[in-house]
Amino acid sequence: MRHLLSAGDLDRDEALAILDTAERMHALQDREVKKLPPLRGRTIVNLFFEDSTRTRSSFEIAGKWLSADVINVSAKGSSVSKGESLRDTVLTVAAMGIDALVVRHNASGAVARIAGWVDCRVVNAGDGTHEHPTQALLDAYTLRHRLGGTGDAADLADRHIVIVGDITHSRVARSNVLLLRTLGARVTLVAPPTLLPAGVHCWPCETSWDLDAVLSGKAHGDVDAVMMLRVQRERMSGGQGVAGGPVVGFFPTEREYAIGYGLSPERLDLLGESVPVLHPGPMNRGLEISSAAADGVRSAVLDQVRAGVSVRMAVLYRLLAGADEVTV
Ligand code: ASP
Repeated sequence: MRHLLSAGDLDRDEALAILDTAERMHALQDREVKKLPPLRGRTIVNLFFEDSTRTRSSFEIAGKWLSADVINVSAKGSSVSKGESLRDTVLTVAAMGIDALVVRHNASGAVARIAGWVDCRVVNAGDGTHEHPTQALLDAYTLRHRLGGTGDAADLADRHIVIVGDITHSRVARSNVLLLRTLGARVTLVAPPTLLPAGVHCWPCETSWDLDAVLSGKAHGDVDAVMMLRVQRERMSGGQGVAGGPVVGFFPTEREYAIGYGLSPERLDLLGESVPVLHPGPMNRGLEISSAAADGVRSAVLDQVRAGVSVRMAVLYRLLAGADEVTV
């Protein structure tokens, strides 16, 4: 693996190898001294053109726990705000002798373009509405633990995962559909018709507009896990929307969206006790997810955050150390 740009780049063996490496990395989280030597002397730059809490900090922690030097560059405060082109910014950073670039950009496809300009390794940390492969890997890691036990052999074959919400604007949904299918799971996407993207019938999954019928198992069979997605206000209004701002054009009111597609306490009761609820964060409580769902026993939200560090350690390790076996 030279870069990680898309969940679709991973075949089943490669995906399972990353997840198994992440299992071993996870042991570090319970240690007092959280440091391993394999990336000593390597330099990783987190180049973020879009806001991030979880992804950027977990890539930074992952690199540091593997002993790499990690530098954060964000669009605010860089020469991008002085009018420098994306290519010039990227070539400038890459000219400093770095080993890997972890990039987030609001344009779909931008990270793949960047990978064509530089010699170092490139990891896609989210490009527009296109892909977020390490999110899909950490979701798969979390699902394996919640559904299959913790052994390396646990996998997601034939599990039914339901992904609910703003599919149109979600890079998380796209990467999850690709990876979950590679791992043999069955995926149903649930959204109002306005938030299902054109061409979704070509994706390797089923779709529905009826959340209650799907969650109760009446429409597409028993449900093993539910993933709620954020309503991405900043990508609405032709990209002119702002996070936390009004939702225009995709559904009548937030209240109607919450009634039709929010994971309310009543809807939680449609799910078995052991069905995990995932959300990639940041959550809009009261819109796509209720506090009862976000904080209840089924919630896997903080497990996802913890898995994010281990999975990103595994990805950086496999890209930069190139080895299969890791001793933790
Ligand atoms: N944090 C995820 C992403 O960057 C999900 C979201 O923002 O809704 O795509």
